[in-house]
Amino acid sequence: MNCNDPRALTNALRMPDSLWAHTATPRVDCPPLRASVNADVAIVGGGFTGLSCALHLAEAGVHSVVLEAAEPGWGASGRNGGMLCPNMKITPAELSARLGTEAGRKAADFSIASADVVMDIITRYSIDCHADQGGWLVPAHSPRALARLENIAREWHDVQAPIELLDAAQMQARLGSSVYYGGLRNVKGGKLHPLSYARGLAGAAAAAGARICANSAVRELQSDNGRWRVVTPGGAVLAERVLIATNGYTDDLWPGLRETVIPAHSFLVATKPLSDNLNGSILPGGDVASDSRRLLLYFRKDHQGRLLLGGRGSIAEPAGPQAFAGLRAQIKVLFPQLGEVEFDHHWFGRICMTRDHIPHLHEPAPGLTIALGYNGRGVAMATAMGKALAEYFIGHDASVLPFPLSEPRKIPLHGLRNQISAVAAAYYKVRDRLETV
Ligand SMILES: Cc1cc2nc3c(=O)[nH]c(=O)nc-3n(C[C@H](O)[C@H](O)[C@H](O)COP(=O)(O)OP(=O)(O)OC[C@H]3O[C@@H](n4cnc5c(N)ncnc54)[C@H](O)[C@@H]3O)c2cc1C
Repeated sequence: MNCNDPRALTNALRMPDSLWAHTATPRVDCPPLRASVNADVAIVGGGFTGLSCALHLAEAGVHSVVLEAAEPGWGASGRNGGMLCPNMKITPAELSARLGTEAGRKAADFSIASADVVMDIITRYSIDCHADQGGWLVPAHSPRALARLENIAREWHDVQAPIELLDAAQMQARLGSSVYYGGLRNVKGGKLHPLSYARGLAGAAAAAGARICANSAVRELQSDNGRWRVVTPGGAVLAERVLIATNGYTDDLWPGLRETVIPAHSFLVATKPLSDNLNGSILPGGDVASDSRRLLLYFRKDHQGRLLLGGRGSIAEPAGPQAFAGLRAQIKVLFPQLGEVEFDHHWFGRICMTRDHIPHLHEPAPGLTIALGYNGRGVAMATAMGKALAEYFIGHDASVLPFPLSEPRKIPLHGLRNQISAVAAAYYKVRDRLETV
C-alpha cells in the first residue's frame, strides 16, 4: 500500500491542513504493520526524534521499526515553523544549576551543535526541503528584554555558541520591522520546510533499512521474556528495545507519562506570496526570528515568499479561522507595510513543555527509553536527540546522551493544567505588554 493513495488513510488520522501539507514533497511508502515482526528497536512516534533515531540506527546496521499513529511528520514535526534554533531557552548557567556543571555544559554543547546535525543529514541524503543555515534572530521587544538578551549572549559566548549582538538599526535592516530594539543572531540557525524534511528523513531511514509503518498506533507495550511486544491494531513488533518519542502527542501508552509534561498549542498563519516590493522589504535576507516575549512570536518567509507568523494558541483546539484573528492582526503590527494583506493558510500543532524547560529522558523499565519535552525548540534538537539515542542503543553507554536519564515525575495538579496554563498565559501576556509601555 502506498500512503500517497488517499484510500490508505481511510479510517486513519489524516494529515491536517497547513501550508506545509500543501507544498511538501510527496509522502514516502509507509504500509501499516499487518503482521508480527522482530526488530532490534521498536520506535513509537514518527516525528523528528523517532525518524532520526531510526535513520542513525539503520546507518549502523541496527534494524528498527517506526510505528506512527498517522503518517511520518503528522505531529509537531510536520507542522512547525521550520526554524533551526540551536540554543535552548534556558541558559548555560541555568542548565548547570539544574544538572551540575559537567552535565549542564554537555547539554549546552548538544544544543549548539544540533542545527549542524540537521544540515549534515540533509546534505548527505540530498533531502529536498528548502533548507539553509542563514542564521536565527531573537529580536528584543523592549529595552529590558534587550538587557536580558545581552546577558544571555554573554553566557552562550562563554560556551562558544556563535551568537552575535545586533543593535536596533542592524535588527531593523534584517527584519524590515521597526518595532524591535536590537537583539541576538545565532549564525548556526536557519530554516527548512518541516514536512518535506520529515518525509525526507523517513525516506532516508527506509532506504537505509528501517521499516516505517504509518497508521500503526501502538496500543500496548507488553514485557515478554526480556523483550518487548509492541502491539498495534494490525500486528506487533517483538524488540529488544523500545523508544517512546511521542512528545506533545503523548497518550496513556506508558502509565503516568502524560502527566509528566504539559502539551500546549502553537498557532501559525501564512500570507499569500508577497509582492516583489514587500518581499524585498520584509526579512530581505531570508532570516528567521523568534522574539524575546515570554509568549513569543516567531516569523519567517517560506520558499515561495509567503510570510508566516506563529505564537502561542489557545489551550483548546481552535474552533475555526476566528481563533487565528489575533495573529493576523499582530502580523500587521510587526510589518505595517503589509497593508490589507490576504492570508493563505492557518494551522496549529502541539508542543511539549517541561517544568524545568529541559527535554526529558527516562528509562522506567529495562529496555524502554522515553525522550520528550523540547519546549517548542525541537526541529534541530529532536533530530540531534534521535541521533544520540541511536548511539546509546548501539553502544549501551548512557554518557553519550545529552541529558541525564531521570525518573518520570508527575506534575502536581496536572488535571488542572488547562486552567493553570490559561492563567499563566494571561499573566505573561500582561508582563510582555507592560514591558513595552
Ligand atoms: C506549531 C508549532 C511550531 C513549532 N515551531 C518550531 C520551530 O520553528 N523551531 C523549533 O525548533 N521547534 C518548533 N516546534 C517544536 C518542534 O516541532 C517539536 O519539538 C518537534 O517536532 C518534536 O518532534 P518529535 O518527533 O519529538 O514529536 P512529534 O513530531 O510531535 O511526533 C510525535 C508523533 O508520535 C505519534 N504518536 C503519538 N502517540 C502514538 C502512539 N501511541 N502510537 C504511535 N504513534 C504515536 C504522533 O502521531 C506524532 O506523529 C514547533 C511546534 C509546533 C507545534
